[in-house]
Amino acid sequence: MSEARAERLAALVAEEGLDALIVGDLVNPGDSGPDAIANVRWLTGFAGTSGLAIVGPERREFLTDFRYAELAERRVGDAFERVIFDGPVFEELGRRLRGRVGFDPAATSVRNHRKLAAAVGDDVELVAAEGLVERLRRVKDADEVDAIAAASRLADEALEWLLERGIAGKTERRIAFELETRMRELGAQPSFPTIVASGPNGALPHAIPTDREVGPNELVTIDWGAKLDGYCSDGTRTFATGELDEELRSAYELVLRAQLAGVDAVAAGAHGREVDALSRGIIEEAGMGERFGHGLGHGVGLQVHEPPRLSKRSEDTLEPGNVVTVEPGVYVPGRFGIRIEDLVVVTAGEPKNLSGLPKELRVVS
Ligand code: ZN
Ligand code: ZN
Repeated sequence: MSEARAERLAALVAEEGLDALIVGDLVNPGDSGPDAIANVRWLTGFAGTSGLAIVGPERREFLTDFRYAELAERRVGDAFERVIFDGPVFEELGRRLRGRVGFDPAATSVRNHRKLAAAVGDDVELVAAEGLVERLRRVKDADEVDAIAAASRLADEALEWLLERGIAGKTERRIAFELETRMRELGAQPSFPTIVASGPNGALPHAIPTDREVGPNELVTIDWGAKLDGYCSDGTRTFATGELDEELRSAYELVLRAQLAGVDAVAAGAHGREVDALSRGIIEEAGMGERFGHGLGHGVGLQVHEPPRLSKRSEDTLEPGNVVTVEPGVYVPGRFGIRIEDLVVVTAGEPKNLSGLPKELRVVS
């Protein structure tokens, strides 16, 4: 697997006129979190905190330190020449690099760029080459889609478990804790900090759970995801805790209509701006356009937010193998918020929805 991926990356590197590309985290090399290591993980299978790869037409090198020698042997295997370096990583890079070498400015700090330039000296021309691995990562292969689908199923199962036990009378923080604990019991981790936003807190799209107790006859938005074998899920449902007034019910129906239209529009060849506009148009027609202030969706994979984007400013065109969220919302400050989010696979035909939970307004106690 990593051989084929490295080959495709090497072709891109050659296309860019580079002799080699440094893949990995040049902000905190040696102490990389899951997002920072995602490109290396996709390329090599390595998921530790210290890993860099050098890929060029004729070279596949993987650099790590003593702590990960064993893991690198198991995960990276022989597709890459494995280098266990001892000492500053930039000196090791300096010894290895020649010619035109790409680095990703989005994964490099100014300070470390300076260190790298000093280490490679005059023999090397450092060239900013942004997003080459991400460009490949956005098209998922069948195993990746399966991994995301499995994470999504697990997340759905955890949410059902939570809803059966009830949410009314619990604090938002308690609900988030129970849901995250359940995902861990089922063998996953949360793919991001769970959002539980009840009543007026729902108007904060990225609300942090508070000590507010969920009351009767209000809306509660839960945005949650599981991470399983490195792959993320992301979904949102908004529930009612009893009878709702007409304003809330019709706002829910509006968001649901916009969401269904958005999912239907997810197709190979569709532009990210087009899908966003189709769903957003429904909310705008109802006079609520200003209440929907974020993009319609984003790609999901090893990271919970990755390309392609569905938004007013998207530059992306959807391709089979993309996995994107569709998540319109309406937020009325001081009153309520509603968001409905599914995870959808772009195929050559009909979109494949990975989110299994119903979307009709559901009353939970
Ligand atoms: Zn979400
Ligand atoms: Zn999302």
